[in-house]
Amino acid sequence: MERVYNFSAGPSALPVEVLEKAAAEMLNYGGTGMSVMEMSHRSAAFAEILADAKALYKELMGVPDNYDILFLQGGGSTQFAMIPLNLMTNTGKADFVITGNWAKKAFQEAGRYGDAQAVASSADKTFSYIPRLDAATFRKDADYFYICVNNTIYGTRFRPDNLPETGDVPLIADMSSNILSEVYDVSKFGLIFAGAQKNMGPAGVVAVIIRKDLVGHAMDMTPTMLNYQTHVDADSCYNTPPCYGIYICKLVYDWVKAQGGVAAMEAFNKEKSAKLYDFLDNSAMFKGTVVPEDRSLMNVPFVTGNEELDAKFVKEAKSAGLENLKGHRTVGGMRASIYNAMPMAGVDALIDFMKKFETENK
Ligand code: PMP
Repeated sequence: MERVYNFSAGPSALPVEVLEKAAAEMLNYGGTGMSVMEMSHRSAAFAEILADAKALYKELMGVPDNYDILFLQGGGSTQFAMIPLNLMTNTGKADFVITGNWAKKAFQEAGRYGDAQAVASSADKTFSYIPRLDAATFRKDADYFYICVNNTIYGTRFRPDNLPETGDVPLIADMSSNILSEVYDVSKFGLIFAGAQKNMGPAGVVAVIIRKDLVGHAMDMTPTMLNYQTHVDADSCYNTPPCYGIYICKLVYDWVKAQGGVAAMEAFNKEKSAKLYDFLDNSAMFKGTVVPEDRSLMNVPFVTGNEELDAKFVKEAKSAGLENLKGHRTVGGMRASIYNAMPMAGVDALIDFMKKFETENK
């Protein structure tokens, strides 16, 4: 069985080199005579994996020393609650930009714990753009300002040069679907979280980068496991961490570093996504759904304008070894997720297939 080009939005394709390395180390990790899945999280071998993962992530992301790095469980969705429980604790106010389902879920969850306000939304045009923001509408006394940097379903992103100017109010970012794909200045953020299952590893790990001064102010009712302080104090080992997932993240970090780091990934991702967007912009049949200036480098939604034709395309693409091109169930159409691990050959194969489909279905 040959491997397919997997355009899944998440969980997503991982670099083949990472999977091969994991396979080679599966039965006997580093001479321990056991798999990473089988070893104590208190063992020296796992302690080294965790320390390496943390150090590599810090290096790749350029994390300043006044931040902690945590590897937690519960996915991105648990962060939607953990963030307000820990941070909405001074004035109890937080501002949100609603750029899609994930931002909305975070906003709704925060509303259970405090005064969550939406300062802008792009719902009026099916989240096909990033709203232009007016800092005068931001609350100066908010405990934080929240954005979803890359919107997996709709294919938009806040570019690194287009982040909200929030002054002293900590900027909190969901980077689940664009982590390690493009250089963002961590010092501009109070907290960055990312579920691993797209660009960083398997589902089950969420990496959190949090400025140290934001730790230690959780609401009294905060469950121990949802308090960042618990995990900072125990260096992500308060309880059994997602050991195997962290190990795969570490292998992915090694791989990203070997590619030349995040700046090199960014250059590659820009080239890769530009090829696909250029094709869409010039196609008579396929059309991208996002305004050019806000396009994601990772998730590329497109349509033919005809639902039957969309379904035919997805089906025939699958037969041609191009998998998971169906758009999210809430929007339909198609979506090609082209994360770090998607090679240029995958995008070339997709474009070739689209050309062929266009000719055959004129
Ligand atoms: N944020 C973003 C940007 C996502 O794409 C997703 C899931 N696809 C989530 C949050 C939710 O993550 P999880 O399924 O790990 O809870």
